[in-house]
Amino acid sequence: FSPIHVIGGGLAGSEAAWQIAEAGVPVVLHEMRGVRGTDAHKSDGLAELVCSNSFRSDDATSNAVGVLHAEMRLAGSLIMRAADGNQVPAGGALAVDREGFSGAVSAAIDSHPLITVVREEITGLPPREWDLAIIATGPLTAPGLAEAIRQETGADALAFFDAIAPIVYTETIDMDICWYQSRYDKVGPGGTGKDYINCPMTEEQYNAFLDALLASDTTGFKEWEGTPYFDGCLPIEVMAERGRETLRHGPMKPMGLTNAHNPGVKPYAVVQLRQDNALGTLYNMVGFQTKLKYGAQTEVFRMIPGLENAEFARLGGLHRNTYINSPTLLDRSLTLKSRPGLRFAGQITGCEGYVESASIGLLAGRFAAAERKGEAPSVPPATTAFGSLLNHITGGHVVSDDEPGKRSFQPMNINFGLFPPLEPGAVTKPEGAKRFRGKEKALAKKQATASRALADCAAWLGSTS
Ligand code: FAD
Repeated sequence: FSPIHVIGGGLAGSEAAWQIAEAGVPVVLHEMRGVRGTDAHKSDGLAELVCSNSFRSDDATSNAVGVLHAEMRLAGSLIMRAADGNQVPAGGALAVDREGFSGAVSAAIDSHPLITVVREEITGLPPREWDLAIIATGPLTAPGLAEAIRQETGADALAFFDAIAPIVYTETIDMDICWYQSRYDKVGPGGTGKDYINCPMTEEQYNAFLDALLASDTTGFKEWEGTPYFDGCLPIEVMAERGRETLRHGPMKPMGLTNAHNPGVKPYAVVQLRQDNALGTLYNMVGFQTKLKYGAQTEVFRMIPGLENAEFARLGGLHRNTYINSPTLLDRSLTLKSRPGLRFAGQITGCEGYVESASIGLLAGRFAAAERKGEAPSVPPATTAFGSLLNHITGGHVVSDDEPGKRSFQPMNINFGLFPPLEPGAVTKPEGAKRFRGKEKALAKKQATASRALADCAAWLGSTS
């Protein structure tokens, strides 16, 4: 076979290259880091995680992203293998040592006999002689290629903001004030009880912190005015502007936590930090993504009890993410309708999140490999997490010709709302149960949707391999 070209060695591109090579087809993976960096990446490693180190819930029985993890493992995902091999404890979540994770992906790709990695920036659409190619250049696609994509698609680029949260050196956190505990004492696989560090606040401290936060200088983004934020990742100061109680009911909620130094007094608010590396020397501030100026960040965040002397390994920041209007531009196998053979994968297609981006890379890789072998790409059933996400990206939003999905298409994490409804009667009251309403019924529905997804995914993979 002649090679398939994958542009971008991030979460999606690395997974796509792996799937293609595992299908017996050679790949050339073009990655620009090493020659040109991005505003958010810090290393040259493949599949670098630019912000949080969490792949979110690993519960495949009742959580949509947990189901996606499980489906990816069934499909032989390299990203999931590297994540599983580099886990750090994080309650019920799957969190990873970011360097170990990226190192594992890089090592697997570099040593695969069918993959060649070329360190170069691709500055325009792939040349025609690359008859099969995948663009997986992510939300921070370099400007030359971004402009070429804009010209080819004829559409205004869609964009939104994504923010990153600061990371603190553990040894600079005052553990006479803070304590280790995960919310509701949830302990996940490998949990050591040190997954989260908590900083307690009294009402007075909370109010003073809020006042300082609201009065602080933010970075100016005049040229991007009007670009919306991704709702799941709002900067902390934007959340604070929505009301004085918003943070206390959001990232600073005190529920499920007891101050080990003062168990009798319930904190008014709590700032949580999550373990960021296997050594436990770094913790990231959960939900504290921000566009405050660097000076303001250190000043305001050191007002948090226990962080008075905090040193930051990295401060927060805000980035503009670009994505394409996939529902009108791509077909069901992620191919650009105007250019057969050219696929898109990852966050640039309008999915959101590490796992989602990697899973779309996994699908694009499988579709491209099938095409190279002369087979019709097999699309996963809509009932699977793969299929639900694919449907969101490639079809779910085209309402009519007058409303080509442009305004309604927003990047989205996987969630049960994207799955088709269950058959009537699929969920029934368990024998002997007294109550079967509200929460119990909602949980049973999630469980039934999850097990249907995994069964259908296994059947789909069985039929394609
Ligand atoms: P990337 O992982 O960014 O990979 C794209 C690759 O393409 C990069 O390696 C880049 O160097 C390369 N590239 C770009 N242009 C070219 C070119 N012209 N030629 C060659 N190579 C090129 N998701 C989460 O789940 N949790 C988070 O906490 C989170 N935080 C985020 C914070 C920020 C600031 C941003 C921008 C995104 C964040 N995301 C987060 C969203 C998303 O999950 C990640 O961006 C994810 O890495 C997307 O995967 P990808 O493979 O599509 O892109």
